[in-house]
Amino acid sequence: MAYKTTYPFTGEVLQQYDNATDKDLEQALTIGHKLYKTWRDEPVSDRAKQLQQIANLMKERKDDLAKAMTYDMGKLLTEAQGEVDLCVSIVEYYAKNGEKFMESVPVESPAGRAYYAKQATGVIVAVEPWNFPLYQVVRVFAPNFVVGNPMILKHASICPTSAQMFADLVIDAGGPKGALSNLFISYDLVAKAIHDPRVAGVCLTGSERGGASVAKEAGDALKKSTLELGGNDAFIVLDDADFDEVKKVSPGARLYNAGQVCTSSKRFIVMADKFDEFVDNLKEAFSSAKIGDPMDPETVVAPLSSKSAQEKLQKQVDSAIEGGATLVYGNESIDSKGFFFQPTILTDIDKDNPVYNQEMFGPVAVVYKVNSEQEAIDLANDSSYGLGNTIFSANREHAQQVAEKIETGMSFINSGWASLPELPFGGVKNSGYGRELSELGLDAFVNQHLVFEP
Ligand code: NAP
Repeated sequence: MAYKTTYPFTGEVLQQYDNATDKDLEQALTIGHKLYKTWRDEPVSDRAKQLQQIANLMKERKDDLAKAMTYDMGKLLTEAQGEVDLCVSIVEYYAKNGEKFMESVPVESPAGRAYYAKQATGVIVAVEPWNFPLYQVVRVFAPNFVVGNPMILKHASICPTSAQMFADLVIDAGGPKGALSNLFISYDLVAKAIHDPRVAGVCLTGSERGGASVAKEAGDALKKSTLELGGNDAFIVLDDADFDEVKKVSPGARLYNAGQVCTSSKRFIVMADKFDEFVDNLKEAFSSAKIGDPMDPETVVAPLSSKSAQEKLQKQVDSAIEGGATLVYGNESIDSKGFFFQPTILTDIDKDNPVYNQEMFGPVAVVYKVNSEQEAIDLANDSSYGLGNTIFSANREHAQQVAEKIETGMSFINSGWASLPELPFGGVKNSGYGRELSELGLDAFVNQHLVFEP
């Protein structure tokens, strides 16, 4: 596995990195474990202060962090800058709330006095994907830092520069050595790390294939794991929706980050009487979205993250059309060295179509026509994924009732997907298990240590 930065806009290899060795892993485990032992005796407030310093330095280095992400995986620079802002807010959230979240919790018992203390558990291995190079790391790093769990990071092999830049920043901001060890390691060394007794758990964000293999190692080693996997989120337009708002929000819900978001709206489910108008609007928006240089603030559609991502999506779209889908718009090749994919709209995908239950990780919208609310709910639930969904209705209670009928970990009402520090993030079914962000995310690798006196 080669860790390198290949700029998706030009196809040029900008930087290559040597793979980490067994010795590098051993060193990271040793310093991580030593830090865990020291951190156990130190107050949470000290780490909270250090986290704030990390947030301050992230603000200073915002442009460098953002550019590194654009070069690594091609996202729009404006979106990369927004990602840094979000990450700063996540780090500051745990800096501010960490002490409160780590307080002991009293337990009512008629048999005596009881409480549980929240304690660190040890080194955590984090395996992260490229689609939000900084956010994916920060949403596990910040809570575990305040808890006192050092982290070994195995980032995606296509975004090594962003990974190293953030690991260096942690040190430059005064974070202790071992708090975040970024290693360019192979899958075998990830497995070896998971089995090491100094490691307490592993979190992975990525594909089902990657998730299953890391969770298997964790299971064999009797280690806790959390998985944030793919999604095939529905965007449901109910009868009573504000349709002007639907038309405004829906294109961006698919095109943001070139469609490479786990919680992008991927399946648009629309009542029959509004179907044509919805599709026409999406077509108009997709055809006028400027495709091009991710550094240009006017660009709307960035290249995909890699040549292989482009090829995989092309195969999926081809198989969808061969399987009977109607191509409403797009799927034309773009004359560029960049790994672009034209925004594409497909309809008439039935249950037998090969992509019916596949996540398409790029700017491809599938639109379904339904005749009733129940049909919309059944279709949304007819998926092996269960990450998020979006529901549009002018009646909040109505939207909430429908939201609770959808088998997902998250629902967003009258907006596209959102991620904020205080909102728990995660899914059910093949979208994984566990939650990140919020107090739930902080609890993921905490020992809830019961102390009882009859
Ligand atoms: P991926 O292939 O699973 O890669 C994700 C990470 O896992 C990378 O660091 C990858 O390393 C590593 N990895 C894969 N197999 C591994 C193994 N057997 N052992 C150790 N590490 C392994 O996922 P992807 O396709 O690049 O990422 C996109 C997927 O992530 C989409 O399905 C998307 O929906 C999902 N995602 C989910 C969330 C969420 O919160 N639920 C958020 C973002 C993305 P290499 O790069 O070296 O292969």
